[in-house]
Amino acid sequence: MKMSFFRQAVMVLMGTVTLLSLWGNCSAEEAKPSGVKWSELQRRYEGVFVLSASRSTRKVALTFDDVPDPRFTPKVLDVLRRKKVPATFFVVGTRSAKYPDIVRRIHREGHNVGNHSYNHPDFSKLPLSKVQEQIGRAEKVIEGIIGFKPRLVRPPYGEILPRQLEWAKKRGYTVVNWDVDSSDWRQLSADRVFRNVIRTVKPGSIVLMHAGGGKGQSLSGTVRALPRIIDWLREHDYEPVTLTELLRIPENRKG
Ligand SMILES: [Zn+2]
Repeated sequence: MKMSFFRQAVMVLMGTVTLLSLWGNCSAEEAKPSGVKWSELQRRYEGVFVLSASRSTRKVALTFDDVPDPRFTPKVLDVLRRKKVPATFFVVGTRSAKYPDIVRRIHREGHNVGNHSYNHPDFSKLPLSKVQEQIGRAEKVIEGIIGFKPRLVRPPYGEILPRQLEWAKKRGYTVVNWDVDSSDWRQLSADRVFRNVIRTVKPGSIVLMHAGGGKGQSLSGTVRALPRIIDWLREHDYEPVTLTELLRIPENRKG
């Protein structure tokens, strides 16, 4: 009798532990590493951490991460040139050092160049000194190619901690995430990429797309969706502009 009660108690306890650990996993996935929601960070760091611009403008910004990539960046640039649309490209330091001509072309064709770190780590897992090093090293490479230090920064995966934003604020960076996610990095069809954008875009939106990818990752859906997205935006009275025009800030950082 005593044993069976003991066994029952152990089973109940184990069940509770299992439930608790599952719950813990779910919460961990939903919460940001900093424990603070992006919308809260935008409020707390107004003008320093940005998800979208004012909703009173018809302007929107198309942004392309993980460039330059010789497989996809020139194709995206070709579409933008044909459609006469300025956009914003977040470049990775190591990739820029390898393909400086593509970075030069991005700048020459009137697009914004932003800093997307030196080699794409998750900032929320790094101490501040490493984040400073990531942004600083990429900045040196970019400045060597186009002659100025970009003010725009996008942290890889959009992850950044409040203390890192404090530093960014002091140094005159503007950290820009997004409010519209195309999810194109999942190698979606052009149709899916198109629909993901048009169903969530609003006045003042910042749209996340990619013009560079990992080994074997295809962004052909992005390249094919892009002309349709631009046409749809214009038909619906949206004006695609660079981030610095949308946010009315300079492209270069002093200091
Ligand atoms: Zn990235």
